[in-house]
Formats: sequence, C-alpha cells, structure tokens
Amino acid sequence: IDDSLQNKNITLDDIFISVKTTKHYQYTRLPIILKTWFQLAKEQIWFFTDTENRQHQNQTNGHMVNTNCSASHQRKHLCCKMSVEYDHFLDSGKKWFCHFDDDNYVNVPRLVEALQKYNHQEDWYLGRTSVNEPVQIYKKPTNELMFSFWFATGGAGFCISRSLALKMLPVASGGRFISICEKIRLPDDVSMGFIIEHLMKKNLTLVPEFHSHLEQMKLLPAESFREQISFSYAKAKDEWNVVDVPGFDTRYDPSRFLSLHCFLFPQFKFCPR
Ligand code: UDP
Ligand code: MN
Repeated sequence: IDDSLQNKNITLDDIFISVKTTKHYQYTRLPIILKTWFQLAKEQIWFFTDTENRQHQNQTNGHMVNTNCSASHQRKHLCCKMSVEYDHFLDSGKKWFCHFDDDNYVNVPRLVEALQKYNHQEDWYLGRTSVNEPVQIYKKPTNELMFSFWFATGGAGFCISRSLALKMLPVASGGRFISICEKIRLPDDVSMGFIIEHLMKKNLTLVPEFHSHLEQMKLLPAESFREQISFSYAKAKDEWNVVDVPGFDTRYDPSRFLSLHCFLFPQFKFCPR
C-alpha cells in the first residue's frame, strides 16, 4: 500500500468514541460493553446517559456523562444526547468523532486501522446507510421534491473528522443540533446527515464494515469478523438477530458479544482456554 495514501500517525488516542446509552439499559447492555470492548479503549470511550450511577462512574474512571436529557426514545431526547456527544467531542480536541449505540460491539483495533486511510484535516463523514435510497424532502402541498440526502445509520456507528465537525460548529454546536432536529422533525442520525450532506454539502463515504441490526447479523462470516468495525444485536419477539459465533452458551451470552470478544481477543481473562 502506498504510504502517502495513509495516515499511520492516527492512533487510538486521536479518536473520541461516544456511546449513547440510557438508564433503561444500564444493567443489560452497558455491562457487556464494560466487560469487552471498553477494556480496549478505556481512555477514549465516553458514555452518554441520562442517569447517575456511582458504580459505573467508578468502573469507567468517570467516563459516564449524565446528559440530563430525558430517558426516552423520542426524537427530541435522542437528539439531545447526540448534541451533547458532539459538544464533548469539540471540547476533547481529538481528531475523530465516532458515535455508537449501546447495542454495538466495536472492534477497536479495526476502527483505528480504518481511520488511518483518511485525513482528519479533510472533511469526512464515514458510515453505512440504513436503506438503499436517500431521504427525500418534498414541498407541501405541491409534493415537489425539494432536496434529498444520505445519512449514516446511528445504530451501525459513524465517524466524522475534526475538520468537518468544526465546519458544522455554527449550525450544530452548543445545543443548536437539537434545534435542527426539531425544525426538520427527523431523528438524530438523520439530522446529522441533513447537516453534513445538505447544509455542509459534504457526502457520506460508505464504509460497509459498520453494521447495525437492520442487517442480518448471522450473514457475516466468521472469517470476516476481524475486518469488521462494528456489530450489533437485537431481539424482536422471540427471535434474536445476532452474530453467528462459536463460544459461550446462548443462555449466558444471548447477544453473542462475549463470544465475539473472545473470538477476536482470546487472551482476555474471562475467555475459555
Ligand atoms: N436509547 C436512549 N433512550 C431510550 C431508549 C434508547 O438513549 O429511552 C438509546 C439506546 O441506549 C441506544 C439507542 O438509543 O443507544 C437505540 O436504542 P434501541 O437499540 O433500543 O432502539 P433502536 O432505535 O435500535 O430500535
Ligand atoms: Mn438498537
């Protein structure tokens, strides 16, 4: 590989990793992350939640941020969290902002490697789309297409370079992100796409190694796990949409993230040997 195309200087410490979570998942989803991929980036991962928890604050060395946003799945409150995540990134001075949900597993070394292909001093919006068509905004009542844009689905995770994040500052910083969400009445990840693609005129770059539970996780071959950046899981009724990975019993590890972690990092203490 041509060295000039790479930015090998980027290390884990150049990345601000935010994880959106909530009190509803503090005893289910959060402990899985704390046991697995959080251990590989303790200094770089910050959790954005809506509650106080002394034990978690200790376990993360103070990396739980109480956003004071309401604990609900409503657009306004999710946008509130994203807004706080973005503002914290700006304050961090880091080169990359990567957002994930608390039902993501992040392959930390792979994330670092992936960002090395891009220059943080240029404008980059990296992620994966949820559907195969852009969001289309129509004029009422004539139904004339006004504009369309792509967005990276938040449930797969996405990254934004510092250069781009700084350009968004006048429209998105200091809570202004929430006003945009409210104005266009779209979810946080869609609003991010609106700001970047429509207002900033910068295109999303597709990085197919990000994965959300909108995909069928079992379709990912085990031989490819090392190359993937993120994974997810979901439970709909009695059906689990999970990564097909050998390891712990499904009763002990229904999300499969403990098994996935041991598949990738078998040296961890809790992994069988
Ligand atoms: N979430 C939240 N508050 C809530 C519910 C969910 O902040 O009341 C967060 C949750 O922690 C996760 C993201 O929003 O990071 C997506 O939630 P979930 O996976 O439950 O729903 P999805 O949108 O994927 O169906
Ligand atoms: Mn989810």
